[in-house]
Amino acid sequence: MSHEILHDPARPVARWLSGRRFAGLPAPEGDLAPPRLSFEFFPPRTEALETQLWSCIRRLERLAPRFVSVTYGAGGSTQARTHATVSRILHETALVPAAHLTCVGATREEIDAVARRYWADGVRHIVALRGDAPEGLAPVAAGEGYADAAALVAGLARVAPFEITVAAYPETHPRAASPVADLDHLKRKLDLGATRAITQYFFDTEVYFRFLDRCLKAGITAPIVPGILPVSNFAQAARFSALCGASIPPWLGRMFEGLDDDAETRRMVAAVIAAEQVRLLQANGVDEFHFYTLNRADLTYAIAHILGVRPVAPAASA
Ligand SMILES: Cc1cc2nc3c(=O)[nH]c(=O)nc-3n(C[C@H](O)[C@H](O)[C@H](O)COP(=O)(O)OP(=O)(O)OC[C@H]3O[C@@H](n4cnc5c(N)ncnc54)[C@H](O)[C@@H]3O)c2cc1C
Repeated sequence: MSHEILHDPARPVARWLSGRRFAGLPAPEGDLAPPRLSFEFFPPRTEALETQLWSCIRRLERLAPRFVSVTYGAGGSTQARTHATVSRILHETALVPAAHLTCVGATREEIDAVARRYWADGVRHIVALRGDAPEGLAPVAAGEGYADAAALVAGLARVAPFEITVAAYPETHPRAASPVADLDHLKRKLDLGATRAITQYFFDTEVYFRFLDRCLKAGITAPIVPGILPVSNFAQAARFSALCGASIPPWLGRMFEGLDDDAETRRMVAAVIAAEQVRLLQANGVDEFHFYTLNRADLTYAIAHILGVRPVAPAASA
């Protein structure tokens, strides 16, 4: 776009007079119940990160989410830390934890043992995943492990009657043979006992609704909960998105232009972008959201507030 066009005084007037009118951001109609939320954390590596995680958990606990989940390093790299975090949430908070569990690079016996320990500890909800093998992870012999997340779901159901959540990919998993094969695979995971899917994050609301339509046509009726990633570090999100197959719309990059050294403005921009995204989803009937919190409470808390969620007063002691 040239400067002459930008500075042509007739142009904005013409746009104001003839452009499309927006009455406002869509808002839910009537007295809708606040949405159900879930929050995802990762297990901390250091004491400082542990303190940060726990201040995040304590702040978000007041929003009474449906559950909170703790990620798992594929190949078992975070096994002890994930277990310790899940266990502490279970025993020291009012929250219901869900433990992520991946099957890549582990034998069925190893995975079943982890699941049995969770069950014995009182954990009733598993987010069942294949995981991506980290470099150097020795593969298990064919037939000794769970081949994919669908096999893991079936295996977990044999261990105990867990509530099982799985992953879904609105933009198709980057390693999937085709979008149809990816959707078939999701349906298999649900048919084998999972009762909900959480999506990979996405930034274009249309992407999610097109995916929901495809799920419905494929006969999937379980909730497909949108995974929301409030982005405040654009460079990091762009790098990660390239790996996991989430597309970054050009407007998102433009929103963060020139803000590399301005974390405060980045966070405000991030809150606005995520708030617009969730309001649009909510206005279209979405009543359940999963937040990738990155172990920070502020953005998630603010966006939950915008969605109509308010803190629950602590129960009065008798
Ligand atoms: C909500 C959510 C939570 C997640 N939590 C974690 C976590 O805690 N820890 C973690 O390590 N990762 C996590 N992931 C990432 C996930 O492990 C990867 O996306 C992984 O590549 C696929 O796992 P899946 O369970 O979806 O696999 P599946 O359901 O088994 O497969 C998904 C699709 O990938 C295709 N595929 C084909 N070849 C391969 C291959 N070689 N590897 C993988 N997929 C292939 C399958 O055919 C299918 O279409 C999470 C993802 C989501 C969306």
